[in-house]
Amino acid sequence: MPLFHCQKPSDDPSPEALAAIREASDRCVACGLCLPHCPTYGDSLNENESPRGRIHLLRAAADGVLPVTPALIAHIDHCLGCLACEKVCPSRVPYGALLENGRALLTAKGPWTWRRSWRRALTRAVDLPGAVAGAYGLARALGSLSGPQTVPMGLKGAVRGLPARPRPARADRGDAGLADVALFRGCTADLDRPVLNAAQRILHALGVRVHVPRAQGCCGALAAHAGFADISFRQRQRNRQAFAGRAPALVAIASGCAAELHRHGREAESGFPEVYDIHRYLVERTEIDRLALSPLAQTIAVHDPCSLRNSLGGTRFVYELLARIPGARVMELPGNDACCGAAGDYFLREPARAQALADAKTRAAAGADIVVSANIGCALHLSAALTRQGVNIPVWHPLLVVAQQLPPLDDPC
Ligand code: SF4
Ligand code: SF4
Repeated sequence: MPLFHCQKPSDDPSPEALAAIREASDRCVACGLCLPHCPTYGDSLNENESPRGRIHLLRAAADGVLPVTPALIAHIDHCLGCLACEKVCPSRVPYGALLENGRALLTAKGPWTWRRSWRRALTRAVDLPGAVAGAYGLARALGSLSGPQTVPMGLKGAVRGLPARPRPARADRGDAGLADVALFRGCTADLDRPVLNAAQRILHALGVRVHVPRAQGCCGALAAHAGFADISFRQRQRNRQAFAGRAPALVAIASGCAAELHRHGREAESGFPEVYDIHRYLVERTEIDRLALSPLAQTIAVHDPCSLRNSLGGTRFVYELLARIPGARVMELPGNDACCGAAGDYFLREPARAQALADAKTRAAAGADIVVSANIGCALHLSAALTRQGVNIPVWHPLLVVAQQLPPLDDPC
């Protein structure tokens, strides 16, 4: 099969997806309590851009009451997938699962455009060696272009200010023998290798044996959110094989990946490790008091990614970990109850709304020495927004800050 100009996967939605949409939408009592929490509804005051509206649009499309038109697809595409609605819903509508199945339905029943074809090609390409790093380099180059416009202004604005890709300090290495945890690096390993190294340093400092399977790949979130359930399924299968029986726990450093692995890990056959966001693992499952950190007299503003806040049960473990650094002033980034707009590839697809959401956050960062985010997509998006505003505040992963305060590697203490 050619990599680009992909064919439409199927014209028929899966019976399981249709059943899941109906079951989820049946739970919605149309109370509207989710509406004030939805950024796209707040921005537009359009019911079709609200969780309640999207639930009923998808139900109507599943029942064949509404045709799958470009306008209907746009209302679903505008959804950030932040799941602020799911968190507050008194009827426990599983909005995330409904959205994933709904997007698969729209892929099957909607028109197949060149944009869809390219999006499918890109979600397939993320597991190719160097693909994500190459795409990132291209995005940075586009963002720095000047002169006659060859790049749409919205897209150019979205990628302007992206930070340089860090040079790898050293290659991943696992421990010989039985491991305590398997480390998930996913498809962004080339972009956040220093964070992977920091994670291994911290785990080793706590006496945790780490295994980093080479055969792992993307968690499947990108494909699932794009409506390509078949690609997402294959990516999950690959990870199941890579991680089954390797260690009792699987830790992910990017909260978006942790949320996706956590959700689908429950479907996996026995032998698949229990999935943790790494901050929770460090605080709950290690002898964290053994961590000897040097003081840091800086103000750290913590951005709460939606995946931690709304899908993984909260963000407190990030704060608890950072609070162990003597002298550090750890504060919440004001506006933490709202999505930053990164949302997977949303910042590329809907640059104007994504930038408005990020700019509101970064204005709130004034006075901080460092902003931290546990999700790489949010960190890159916020970093670009700060650069565009001319504000010189680095955006780091929390583990980088913690690892920086560990004794030097050759220090026997
Ligand atoms: S809060 Fe839940 S039940 Fe109420 S409208 Fe929103 S999704 Fe439906
Ligand atoms: S996931 Fe976020 S953007 Fe989408 S409907 Fe829910 S609150 Fe709105």
